[in-house]
Amino acid sequence: MKDFSAEVHGCHRYDATGAINTPIYLSATFRHPAFRQSTGYDYGRVANPTRSDLERAIALLEGGGRAWALSSGMAAVNLVFALCRAGDHVLLPEDLYGGTVRLANEIYSRYGIDFEYIDMRDTALVRAKMRAETRLVFIETPSNPMMFVTDIRTLAEIAHAHDALLVADNTFLSPHFQKPLTLGADIVLESGTKYLCGHNDVICGTIAVREADSALAQEIELLVKSEGPNLSPMDAWLMLRSLKTLGVRVERQAASALVLAQWLRTRPEVTEVYYVGLPDHPQHALHQSQSAGCGGMISFKVRTPAIAQNVLAHLHLIAFAESLGGVESLLTYPIVQTHAEMPHELIARTGLDDHLLRLSVGLEDVEDLREDLAQALEKAAQEG
Ligand code: PLP
Repeated sequence: MKDFSAEVHGCHRYDATGAINTPIYLSATFRHPAFRQSTGYDYGRVANPTRSDLERAIALLEGGGRAWALSSGMAAVNLVFALCRAGDHVLLPEDLYGGTVRLANEIYSRYGIDFEYIDMRDTALVRAKMRAETRLVFIETPSNPMMFVTDIRTLAEIAHAHDALLVADNTFLSPHFQKPLTLGADIVLESGTKYLCGHNDVICGTIAVREADSALAQEIELLVKSEGPNLSPMDAWLMLRSLKTLGVRVERQAASALVLAQWLRTRPEVTEVYYVGLPDHPQHALHQSQSAGCGGMISFKVRTPAIAQNVLAHLHLIAFAESLGGVESLLTYPIVQTHAEMPHELIARTGLDDHLLRLSVGLEDVEDLREDLAQALEKAAQEG
């Protein structure tokens, strides 16, 4: 089934009523027909029919065999880190979501896991950094917020040659544009809060693996059952509804993002534009070779920190807010928001600084977005 059809239909199974949509099963527990018999549902933390429908749809879209729907993107990252044991080594990219860095440095490092941050664009460096203890190679591509692109196929080969797992945080593109499992990754995770949800109204995370019955799937199942990070049935239903429009949303967001990225380049207040859809992005060709689209995320630098800060107060249509991937366009100032707690030496290595703004392009008319940015940039430049 092609993506647009899979997004609309998922794995919906019609019940006796013929309902087009999966009902919301608000049931914490399920009656057993008799001793040692089960309907397949025993207790809501372990499985819920609404959530199961969503999980089947996510597995289908990611090109995997099994998926889990969790209460946040961080719950998904947490689950992946929980696969490690004391003494394990984990390679993380030096440009990535700040919350992942906080979880690694402030929580998991307490348990004897060694996290090392490297430039994942440099495949020779990744190869050189692999150790016998390396359990995970974790990537974001494009990365948040500098839009570095990682070669998924090559990193999968490197990880597997060392018995490590390749984990891809696919939040910036969604499975509509990129399916890391089909390129060799062992685990794909998403902050479902972003493009999968798309309406800025649910906090959700997803995780998927290639094979339903693999040892890895069983280990994740054990963690989910034991730690209880599952998504509620109500939110699972909202996510199922959102998935139906994933393709139309992200295709339009990507089309508008390209227009805005090209236009931002012409602005006197703007010094750099980072968008993987620009043909002269240094890794445009690599991106094209592993993805079906460029997404709706643009980062750009303005001449001075004062301009970056002043722009935020002058926006009318675009909201100054954290997050991304929704129908509403959002402008974020990563240095004080999503990446506020990043260690300074890490930030210095990637170029993330107080000139950088990150735009999540929504579904508004692109002309209105351009006008809003133009007037805000003009006013900000006059002040700063
Ligand atoms: N991964 C990336 C790339 C993100 O941008 C975020 C949140 O912004 C997360 C993970 C965490 O997701 P959540 O906020 O749903 O917990």
